[in-house]
Amino acid sequence: MEKKRRNQLDQERHKNKREKESDMEKKRRNQLDQERHKNKREKESDMEKKRRNQLDQERLKRKREKASDMEKKGRSLLERERLKRKREKESYMEKKRINQLDQERLKRKREKASDMEKKDRSLLERERLKRKREKESDMEKKRRNQLDQERLKRKREKESETEKKRKQIIDKSLHAETRHPKSIDKANKQFLKEIQKSPDYTCTVCHRMMYNENVIQFRPSSFRNSDLADFCRTHLKTVSDKEWLCTTCQRHLRKGSTPPQAQVNKMALPEQPSIVDELTDFEARLVAKRIPFMKITALPRGKQQGIIGSVVNVPSDVDETCKFCQELQYRLVSSLSN
Ligand SMILES: [Zn+2]
Repeated sequence: MEKKRRNQLDQERHKNKREKESDMEKKRRNQLDQERHKNKREKESDMEKKRRNQLDQERLKRKREKASDMEKKGRSLLERERLKRKREKESYMEKKRINQLDQERLKRKREKASDMEKKDRSLLERERLKRKREKESDMEKKRRNQLDQERLKRKREKESETEKKRKQIIDKSLHAETRHPKSIDKANKQFLKEIQKSPDYTCTVCHRMMYNENVIQFRPSSFRNSDLADFCRTHLKTVSDKEWLCTTCQRHLRKGSTPPQAQVNKMALPEQPSIVDELTDFEARLVAKRIPFMKITALPRGKQQGIIGSVVNVPSDVDETCKFCQELQYRLVSSLSN
């Protein structure tokens, strides 16, 4: 009891003394304290250092656990400001070193992370990026693209010849693997993927239906004679709501000539009269103004059929057919009534 009383008195005396002392004295006392601490620390062994660090951390931990949410928030804010001030003071070299250390720490942490954690992290990261990109304006997008391209360019310039060669070899082997897969599973998968494709891309100039490999996006401004390209287009949009151009038409437009199969070259098919939909196959053939003849053969692979040689277009006189049909109907009716 007496001890406690004495301690309390001591503390009060200390407090009073400190309140009375001038700034100069305070500074002096702080300095002395720090030196004493420093001396003490220099003397202590590794074991003691470790023990002290541990005690310090435990004390900090206990303090933090006790802290209220408000205090926590305040502390994190202070911490952030302190870090910010520190970073502002840092020289370029120091910044670089700290960044490097940060990255190394992150790397070590990532190496330790489990597959599950890795997946979660990459998912979060992607979502964060997506949200960020949705917010950015057209100007920012453009700027970002530009920066990306510049970075890629710099990276490529830095690459040594051996690295370039190595990359080329990897690319080549990847290409070969996709063209001629080694395992049957992979080949099967690829086959199923390939046959999903269909000629969904319609050329805006010639209206032929093409596969993705044979079309490019149509941009009139990319041709020297952009007026001709503008004249040939039909503004037909298909996949991804974009205008596509087949490589054949592209070749002709580049030369500055109208593509032979272009719709504007009087190659457009006339609209089919709606009555034809109501006719049967036989009826439609009877009234067809032209009968096409072609030689159809089985192709060597895939059980598909192809046309060989030229298509012969035979015009037929529909009037004669109609007249004959009427006569036939008359004869039938009269023979039935007799
Ligand atoms: Zn075309």
